[in-house]
Amino acid sequence: MSSPQPILSLVIPCYNEEGNLRELHKAIHASVDPLGVEYEIVITDDCSKDSSWTILKELAAADPRMRVQKLNRNSGESAASWAGMKASRGQFIFTLDADLQNDPKDLPKFLVALKTHDCVCGTRVKVRGEGDHFIRVASSRIANWVRNKLSGEQISDAGCTYRAFKRECIENLKFFKGMHRFLPTLFKIEGHTVTEIEVGNNPRFAGQSNYGVWNRLFASFYDLLAVRWMKKRMFRFHVAEKVN
Ligand code: UDP
Ligand code: MG
Repeated sequence: MSSPQPILSLVIPCYNEEGNLRELHKAIHASVDPLGVEYEIVITDDCSKDSSWTILKELAAADPRMRVQKLNRNSGESAASWAGMKASRGQFIFTLDADLQNDPKDLPKFLVALKTHDCVCGTRVKVRGEGDHFIRVASSRIANWVRNKLSGEQISDAGCTYRAFKRECIENLKFFKGMHRFLPTLFKIEGHTVTEIEVGNNPRFAGQSNYGVWNRLFASFYDLLAVRWMKKRMFRFHVAEKVN
């Protein structure tokens, strides 16, 4: 049995998050149920090695709002997130981590900002020190600075994947490994409007981060050059008049 056509889709990639999933499921229900809007939770298990998939199947069996799928091999956060977006059905897509660092309590704030923008990005800049240690905060600041400089952006926290956007935003998107870091820029290239809102930053509830300093600072550099190229070279046009 699946839920009625949802308005909101919460799309969550999951790799080895067995200690977080039940809590995440509870926290989402506690924050979104009172809004009185139809929603679904789409979790993609990126071929976890722990018991995440067993837990996800159990949660989905008891909750028609939970829709879960498992990839055949570990494909990375971007792929798991994209697979979730493709499977989702809501008019508005929310992306968040499975580790409860992104607090579902912030969800209503996104909805307000979606009234005036196509995409809303969470930024943790003000509260970053609360949920993360110094090295992580520093490496993320440097990565953001370089990213903005080279891609001509002013996104204060591109590494924060707590975002909400209209389904139209992903209609023409080309997806590539690591692209979750550039989603707002790719949306802007397509002509969509993007804004930022402040969100909280909890410590990871359980388990470990999948990224180290190396990954945060350097692994996305190659992608950054591709996005920079796209921003400069891709064109958009609007037909002004037509006959026949
Ligand atoms: N993730 C995934 N596949 C991977 C690595 C990560 O689906 O190969 C998921 C992970 O379970 C989490 C999200 O992507 O929900 C972000 O990962 P993580 O929390 O480790 O990154 P951080 O928040 O530390 O940057
Ligand atoms: Mg995380």
